[in-house]
Amino acid sequence: VHATVLVVEDELKLRDLLRAYFEREGMTVLTAATGADAITLGLHANPEVVVLDLGLPDIPGEHVATELRRRGDPLIIILSAKALDEDRVRGLELGADDYLTKPFNPRELVLRVQALLRRGRAAPSSDEVRSFGRGRLVIDEGRHEARVNKKAVQLSPSEWGVLITLARVPGRVYSRYELVNAVRGYEWEGYDRVIDTHVKNLRRKLQADDKSTEADGKSTSADVIETVVGAGYRLGLSRDP
Ligand code: CA
Repeated sequence: VHATVLVVEDELKLRDLLRAYFEREGMTVLTAATGADAITLGLHANPEVVVLDLGLPDIPGEHVATELRRRGDPLIIILSAKALDEDRVRGLELGADDYLTKPFNPRELVLRVQALLRRGRAAPSSDEVRSFGRGRLVIDEGRHEARVNKKAVQLSPSEWGVLITLARVPGRVYSRYELVNAVRGYEWEGYDRVIDTHVKNLRRKLQADDKSTEADGKSTSADVIETVVGAGYRLGLSRDP
């Protein structure tokens, strides 16, 4: 799969190693050793994938991820030296699409990048605009945009993947396993926790702009995304005619 990959890593040896692995797969590789360089390169080169070390000498990797996300929509894979679970979840809450803890096998990183790219490209190229819950939620696939009460909501590629999967058949329960396959394209250890985090972020984003409660004076009981205990998640809105 051809793509431009930006490797942000301050350790020279690891940076060169990753460059070699990605180039062997025919990808174009850009590298940055600092967060400032990563932001500048990210803006000018518009890479499809960013491999981002959290521990950078100048600014925290988290800040770099936020900046890159604000101005583009790259797939972001975070590298961290910390093996703590909280860091893992925090990385995903930043909108990262995947997460690897050092030390890792570079081959594993390449496989994950390829899986993310395949998923991104295999997305059905539909221009369909679908409306749910009497216009409360609108999914515009052509513009790659979700709107809640007419206001656009910024979603990471993984959150978008979860949402369009749930919207395929509103009301049908999708297991975490199904959702992770839709998002990631292959089985991955710890998937339930990852999906829970994406759903949590999706709910927060979709509900932040959801003012339907105040509009008609009475509260809307239906959640946009409902949890079905022991089974998974489903879209709680029905499709509009
Ligand atoms: Ca580092």
